[in-house]
Amino acid sequence: MLVESLQWSKPLRTRIAPTPSGFLHIGNAYSFVLTWLWSQLHQAELLLRIDDADQQRIRPEYLEDIFYSLDFLGIVPSCGPSSVQEFLDKFSQTYREDLYQHAISLLKQQNALFPCRCSRKQLQQNKLCTCLESPPQAESEQQTAWKLDTAQALALELRDWQAGTHHLHLHHLAPYPSIQKRDGKAAYQLSSVIDDDFWGVNVIIRGADLWASTGIQLHLANLLGKTEFQHALFYHHPLILSLNGEKLSKSKGDTSLHAYRQSASAAPIFRQIATFLQLPSAEKITNGQTLLDAAHTLEWPKIF
Ligand SMILES: [Zn+2]
Repeated sequence: MLVESLQWSKPLRTRIAPTPSGFLHIGNAYSFVLTWLWSQLHQAELLLRIDDADQQRIRPEYLEDIFYSLDFLGIVPSCGPSSVQEFLDKFSQTYREDLYQHAISLLKQQNALFPCRCSRKQLQQNKLCTCLESPPQAESEQQTAWKLDTAQALALELRDWQAGTHHLHLHHLAPYPSIQKRDGKAAYQLSSVIDDDFWGVNVIIRGADLWASTGIQLHLANLLGKTEFQHALFYHHPLILSLNGEKLSKSKGDTSLHAYRQSASAAPIFRQIATFLQLPSAEKITNGQTLLDAAHTLEWPKIF
């Protein structure tokens, strides 16, 4: 029902947006499969959008892992890179640094950002940056990070499948998120919202652990006049914390997809999604196609 109320001139487009700063884990696989399933059921485009802005933490094996993982799950995105090489040649966030920098200067012009010189150690001790209340002495520009003053954010309104029209009070959720890092590069929240806008993403499916990111990104979209993102439809899915009834936790061993796919098929992942969605005969579901067939029988908006 919500989908019918969306009157976009552009097609519905959702995305899978991994960051190659580590091996993907089973929780990522659930989120990918849910997003893929949604795209299939709504004839939406599915974009693969890889966040590699934090170049220091990116490793080639993590990038490869994204493509191996999608292969393992049988997910073929309809847009975005289809290989590591294509990603590096055409899609890397390094090609959009100008867009990020332009957005940062617009935010600075609006006084939406404030300089922060807290060290990592200070932030650990104080828990919270206090640079807004007691501005740091001007030293070299290079040591300054810029943070978002969320105290200026009014209550944000967003549409979420599960929560309905939802109001977020950003300042409580995420007091002072980083927007520009000390090295001058855009921080994750900014490059993410700029990229979603750049690629025309209008449906965002993500875990319930990312409500704060949604708030930060919506506030940035409001400040930057990114209207499509402001009217995007969200679905914050509950985190799926078990596989075949076994709790997923680091303490129980490696939960990386990388390790998992050495010794198991993807079937338990699809069955777990089917159980989560309360699909009939969940035990018979073994792959994307059988999941899709079963999900077609549902009145989807009641679930999503
Ligand atoms: Zn600070």
